[in-house]
Formats: sequence, structure tokens, C-alpha cells
Amino acid sequence: MKVLKFGGTSVGSVESVLTLKQIVEHEAQKQPVVIVVSALGGITDKLLATAQLAKHGNEHWKNDFDAIADRHHRMINTIITDDQAREELSQTVDALLEQLRSIYFGVFLIHDLSEKTQNAIVSYGERLSSQIVATLITGAQWFDACQFIKTERENEKHKLDTELTNNLVRKTFVDLPRISLVPGFISRDKNTDEITNLGRGGSDYTAAIIAAALDAEVLEIWTDVDGFMTADPRVIKTAYTINELSYIEAMELCNFGAKVIYPPTIYPFV
Ligand code: ASP
Ligand code: MG
Repeated sequence: MKVLKFGGTSVGSVESVLTLKQIVEHEAQKQPVVIVVSALGGITDKLLATAQLAKHGNEHWKNDFDAIADRHHRMINTIITDDQAREELSQTVDALLEQLRSIYFGVFLIHDLSEKTQNAIVSYGERLSSQIVATLITGAQWFDACQFIKTERENEKHKLDTELTNNLVRKTFVDLPRISLVPGFISRDKNTDEITNLGRGGSDYTAAIIAAALDAEVLEIWTDVDGFMTADPRVIKTAYTINELSYIEAMELCNFGAKVIYPPTIYPFV
């Protein structure tokens, strides 16, 4: 089996999400695949910025919320052509958006944005995008990452409980469907059940955790560059893609600032 992760840019536009569909359906003909997706490009930042507006009692949170909702509605209306599927998806998505609006409203009324509330808010990015992609890809089965990616609190931080998570991942995917679809980034605290996450950029890590636990043949991280590069191509025009790297070398590049993948992504493999 293979694990494929698609980041925000791959689910950012209609064109890129349709490419994602093609890649996944092509790969799934060869072997079972687990697909991990991020929020639609830019949505995580928007969710956080809107939370700040609400916290400061700024009425404009409503406009920002409407823009977020609109972005998802437009995506659905353009890419899901089957009437019944679109109707069902819209209901799911609208229910999620309604929850999100209520949370923002609470933040606005109380002027309080705890870490817990912020984590709940930011989780909607992946919850929404994963439902959309699961409907778009023929035969995809959606899984709730919060049921098997488990964190615990350590030194005021949320840290993955590797052993528990590995066991739960193996249990969840014991009968591997042809195409499984999983939201990246989000998790749940194993003790309190509150929604947590693996840190910004954490969808890569979700994919790596699943790939390692299931002993996948391959983990592919799809993004807008072809791989690790010798430098940031936005800064150094002559930067080129590195063909092969050991896990340790890749980890070093990440720790020295390579943005191509989230540093902990390599941990499950070393
Ligand atoms: N959506 C989250 C973020 O923007 C996680 C990810 O994209 O990997 O950080
Ligand atoms: Mg990323």
C-alpha cells in the first residue's frame, strides 16, 4: 500500500484538486492507497485570523467567516457534479460551518480565545477539506483522524502518543479499503478528548505516522516543488532538486529550515 499526502496548494484551486483526483484514482488501480489532505490553501491562516478578530470584539469576524464558508461552497459547486452527492456533501459541510460559526460567536461574546478553543477552530480546515475530497474521489472512504491520532500533554505541549497511535492506526486500517481519505494535522488528547493538532504543517506528519504504522511501501508528499532542493527556489534561482537523500540528511535539512516538509515527518522512519 501507499500513503499519499496532498497539501494546501494541492487542494487550493479547482484545477489542482482535479489533478489530485486523477493522481489518486490512477494510483488506486495499482494498490490500496491512504490519502491525507490539508485544509484548502490559506484556510488555516484565515481561521486563525478570524479567531483573533472575534476575540477582540471586531464585528468583521462575520465577513471573514462568510468568506471562508463561501470558498468551500464555491469549491463544492464547481467540482462535485453529481446532484445527490453535492446535496449530501453540502449538508455535512453546512453542519460543520454552523458549528464553527457558533464557536466564533462564543469567542466574540466572551472576548476569550483559549488554546483549546483555538485548536477546535483550526481543526475545521481539515475537517471541511477532507469531506470535500472524499466526495470528489470515486469510492473513497473517509476516516476521522481524531479517532486514531492521539496526543498527550507534556511540558505544556501536545505530543504524539506514538504507541497508542500506532496501535489505533493498525486497528483502524486492518481491512484496508481501496482508497482511504484522512484529514491531516488534527488529533485528540488521549486523556481529555479535546481536539489538538500536530503543529502547523502537521499534515505531513499525519501521513508519515500512518505510513510507518502500516509499513507502507511508499509515502509520497505531493507539493508544488519536485522534492528537496538545494535552496529555497524563491530566493536562489539556480536551486535544483536533490535526487536522493538519507532520512538523516532529510531531517537535517528540515531542521536547518527546509520548508518542503514538516520536520517531525521523518521521525517515524528513523
Ligand atoms: N493546515 C495546517 C497548516 O496550514 C496543516 C498543514 O497544512 O499541514 O498548518
Ligand atoms: Mg506543508
